[in-house]
Amino acid sequence: MVARVIPVETFDLVIFGGTGDLARRKILPGLFRRFLAGQMPADSRIIGAARSALDADGYRAMIADAIEEFGGDEKTNKKGVADFIARLDYVPIDAKGEGGWKALAELVRTDVVQAFYFSVGPSLFGDLAERLHKHKISTSDSRIVVEKPFGRDLESAQALNATLAEHFNESQIYRIDHYLGKETVQNLMAVRFGNVLFEPLWNNHYVDHIQITVAETVGVAGRGAYYDKSGAMRDMVQNHLMQLLCLIAMEPPSKFDADAVRDEKLKVIRALEPIEPHHIVRGQYEAGPDGPSYREDAENPRSFTESYIAMKTHIANWRWSGVPFYLRTGKRLKARASEITVVFRTNGHSIFEGEKDQQQNVLSIHLQPNEGMDLQVTIKEPGPGGMRLVSVPLDMTFADALGDQDVEVTDAYERLIMDVIRGNQTLFMRGDEVEAAWAWTDPLIDGWEARNDVPKLYDAGSSGPEDSLMLLHRDGRKWREIKG
Ligand code: NAP
Repeated sequence: MVARVIPVETFDLVIFGGTGDLARRKILPGLFRRFLAGQMPADSRIIGAARSALDADGYRAMIADAIEEFGGDEKTNKKGVADFIARLDYVPIDAKGEGGWKALAELVRTDVVQAFYFSVGPSLFGDLAERLHKHKISTSDSRIVVEKPFGRDLESAQALNATLAEHFNESQIYRIDHYLGKETVQNLMAVRFGNVLFEPLWNNHYVDHIQITVAETVGVAGRGAYYDKSGAMRDMVQNHLMQLLCLIAMEPPSKFDADAVRDEKLKVIRALEPIEPHHIVRGQYEAGPDGPSYREDAENPRSFTESYIAMKTHIANWRWSGVPFYLRTGKRLKARASEITVVFRTNGHSIFEGEKDQQQNVLSIHLQPNEGMDLQVTIKEPGPGGMRLVSVPLDMTFADALGDQDVEVTDAYERLIMDVIRGNQTLFMRGDEVEAAWAWTDPLIDGWEARNDVPKLYDAGSSGPEDSLMLLHRDGRKWREIKG
């Protein structure tokens, strides 16, 4: 089965911050792959815009280098690279000044799909929105794409939403959370709502608890100054982990469209209970053989910012009442692994004497590495010696399941950018969702700041601080092993 390429309409995509790290590492290599897949209509164009004094050829050379560095296997297609970069243009522009805007206005067409990717810091969002409007470049159909971080608390997120709303409707604003573009995350919805098997079990009668883990091996070196003002709660939980939580916990939307899905996600966020301080564990990594400590990386010897956080929360509704959701994320952990795990209840009565522990079904949804799912089921251990039980995975690693079929693996950014061009907002965060997420995290952050809470130290390369293990031990449960 060759992946179907659904063509999009002709577009002009302007990437503000087109010379930056995100544009070179993700956005343009992603567009290059969509171009090779035949998804970019012949007369579509991509226009980089930033302050750097480049001409179109200089920008094309920069992006050819970026594809060489980040383009994956396809970069060997030299004709493809040449044809792709011929589609690129560049306008030197300062978001905070007037220079360059007239040239951009002359370049961008108003009779094709227009998208403006704000791949710059949020402090420039207002300037860009205002000047796009003032110079009559954007129309009531234009789309704008904005990156995280979307604010650092409720107040700043509200201010950003208000700034964008001065010139764009909510239906024009695409707030990216690239976790939502991952194949497995969408598969989570397909598995839940496309099968009759799981949904009847998806509630507090059958689910014991749910774990969400996003573990990274990297530290914060290189972005310590930014990260130290943010921390794991703002950088990861408020957006990525909460989005995953929403998708796993939401009620079935009436249809798979943007507002139906986002309405259900919003209800989950609004139903999240406040967390008791002793149900939150914050940590900082210590120096290890592979690198310095968090405080050294952050260049702040007195930093109280967390590079790790684990928490237990509950959703106050009929479906999930009494089911704990355990969330954790951290830097410099033992492996790079992201996983959602649904641990089902055991049967109250076992007919197999002494074998009760084995009878717990576990559905694991792996986001990385090896996107896929497995379901732990109990079977009889083979061989003589009586009825001994063993737990084995029914494995659905997508690459294996669809292995000999030529299925294209699309990166989250590729998929999301094409959704912008198609005008499909389902996998983007709505303004009220982002605000509701901050409204839940703000009091938690305010609480530990007011208590001068000191993060627990943990060994680099470990699974996080001891206290985070205790968070589950106290409930008679344990974290899944972090495995790369
Ligand atoms: P970056 O490498 O610092 O790039 C910033 C870009 O903005 C550059 O192209 C810069 O080019 C341009 N720029 C800065 N000031 C400008 C101005 N006044 N007018 C016009 N252009 C200006 O940052 P980045 O890593 O690409 O990140 C961009 C945004 O994406 C940030 O909001 C970041 O938080 C977010 N993000 C990044 C990543 C990532 O992996 N990098 C991941 C998630 C989210 P000139 O200096 O030439 O003007």
